[in-house]
Amino acid sequence: MPSTTALQAPSAGAPFEVAEIPVRDLRDDDILIDVKYAGICHSDIHQVREEWGTAIFPMTPGHEIAGVVSSVGAGVSRYKVGDRVGVGCMVDSCGECEFCKDGEEQFCTKGAVMTYNGRGYDGEETKGGYSQQVAVSERFVCSIPEGVGLDEAAPLLCAGITTWAPLKRWGVGPGSKVAVVGLGGLGHMGVKFAVALDADVTVLSRSDAKADDSRALGAVAHVATADPENLKALRGTFDVVLNTVSADLEVHRYISLLRPLGVFANVGMPTEAWSIRPSAVVGGSRVVAGSNIGGIQATQDMLDFCAAKGIGASIETIGAGDVDAAYERVVAGDVRYRFVIDTATIR
Ligand code: NAP
Ligand code: ZN
Repeated sequence: MPSTTALQAPSAGAPFEVAEIPVRDLRDDDILIDVKYAGICHSDIHQVREEWGTAIFPMTPGHEIAGVVSSVGAGVSRYKVGDRVGVGCMVDSCGECEFCKDGEEQFCTKGAVMTYNGRGYDGEETKGGYSQQVAVSERFVCSIPEGVGLDEAAPLLCAGITTWAPLKRWGVGPGSKVAVVGLGGLGHMGVKFAVALDADVTVLSRSDAKADDSRALGAVAHVATADPENLKALRGTFDVVLNTVSADLEVHRYISLLRPLGVFANVGMPTEAWSIRPSAVVGGSRVVAGSNIGGIQATQDMLDFCAAKGIGASIETIGAGDVDAAYERVVAGDVRYRFVIDTATIR
């Protein structure tokens, strides 16, 4: 079997090491991608540290993948060598269930195959984008339009689609009042999209440290949540509160910020249970919703929107030797706003 050079975590929480890992022989519908950039998502950290339960090791994370097609299987029709492409959180699904047919592959009844820390339907472990190459079915590959750099495109494949999908689903558009909680990788994309959709956007961040960035991103306000009085003053204000926080949060304080019929759309994935009084949602008929990444067609639509509007992620590019330190900085909230690994440095 062919192989490639990748970063891998040998066990939970252990530092990354460089390793040769297998890349499968191309199937008829496979594309071999020379990975150029891989974003660091907080979900990578949750999984490498086994914060979501038992994981598969050694692990090569990475589900924000941008690169160039280097070869294609015999039956590939959508892409050719040299195309600029991206891969996100999924690499396979049954393709036949109601959700797959609807373009919501993440809800596949057979279980979508995750890009890493998963197993394909053949039982093989999946390996992600902190690597020089990946082989992926063309059904799970998106085209990265000209005009969006591959480096700033990589985070769109997870942080982008994960914030785009709930904003579209809950009808954010001109005049919507939107709050984005947590200005990190997901949060800053949520702000960019909501602003581009002509909403009035408020950033709810722990402190004022990122206030200048919020305004530069187009938010009308930046509010420090550390002072409870600041949140009280915003009760009943927003149509949508998009929560991207990676740590435990007193969600009832944020649900109370919704107008009647407003939606608390949650994408953050810490593990502690929430405690909310029934009256917090009954009063005002509010909606508490989750949102799980997004389908492949929606991902392509989001990428096309980014090209039309000149949107990319705000990134800090790092080398392979900096990934462990970058993880610490992400956990400390010290990233503006996505670390992207230059995979050429993995050797
Ligand atoms: P990130 O870059 O680390 O951003 C998270 C932000 O949360 C931080 O920038 C910070 O914003 C805030 N925060 C961090 N620690 C906090 C604390 N102790 N208390 C309050 N706020 C805190 O993470 P990310 O990559 O955007 O991911 C965010 C979450 O979404 C993760 O849990 C990830 O697993 C999850 N996720 C979900 C999906 C999905 O499909 N639903 C997809 C991808 C990721 P401030 O400094 O502004 O306060
Ligand atoms: Zn992610």
